Amino acid sequence: MSTAYQKGELIYEGKGKKVFQIKDENNFIWIDFKDSLTAFNAQKKGSFESKGAINRDIASMVFRYLKKNNIDSHWVADVGVNSMICEKLQMIPLEVVVRNVVAGSFAKKFGLEEGIEIPNPIAEFYYKKDELNDPFISDDQALYLMAARSQHELDSLKKMGLLVNVQLKNLFAKLELRLVDFKLEFGFNYNKKICLGDEITPDSCRLWDLKTNEKFDKDRFRRDLGGVSEAYQEVLNRMRRMWGSEL
Ligand code: UDP
Repeated sequence: MSTAYQKGELIYEGKGKKVFQIKDENNFIWIDFKDSLTAFNAQKKGSFESKGAINRDIASMVFRYLKKNNIDSHWVADVGVNSMICEKLQMIPLEVVVRNVVAGSFAKKFGLEEGIEIPNPIAEFYYKKDELNDPFISDDQALYLMAARSQHELDSLKKMGLLVNVQLKNLFAKLELRLVDFKLEFGFNYNKKICLGDEITPDSCRLWDLKTNEKFDKDRFRRDLGGVSEAYQEVLNRMRRMWGSEL
């Protein structure tokens, strides 16, 4: 493996990221974080300058923090200002959502007020299919649709989601942020091992200030609260103040 990665062909362009091959390297991919911001299955579109760089830095620090705490992810190295080298994963078409506090679709679905603590964190699956708006999916439905190979695999995904939750809650508490809920994606790496993929950023987590409950996540964009870029930047600033160059 060479240390000077060379960007190859574009493999895939998503809402927030572009994925490229790496020349002469089959097991890794090159991911560019874009400046775009989308919500409600891309019905609402926006962007801000440096969003890609901010999210790359946040995701990278989160993955490195998890690694220090014995949770592996696809993260391999940072390159440039808005790119990452990652293990190439065969993605599992499920989103694993973990909730510590009632918010978002959960509040709406059950007619609950946002902000109520959930004492035993809840893990849920959503089926990754843009055409269907990523619907909630039960374990039996996931098995029927072959989104996972076995109940054991589904159980492992939930277990990993809850383990990541323990670490992330600690991490964000140190930054005076409450981890309300978040979404993870997993895939199989070249060793056929289930590995944490995608990103963990204010696009995929709800983060509220511990003292004021001010929102520091994509809800600022979804709900037109303003101060979107400032909120993302503040999450990164708090991380940098905490760790400097330590991670
Ligand atoms: N989430 C995400 N991508 C999705 C759906 C949800 O990153 O396609 C995140 C979202 O940011 C939140 C958590 O998963 O932190 C739970 O989202 P929820 O089910 O409440 O849906 P939402 O209200 O965001 O539509």
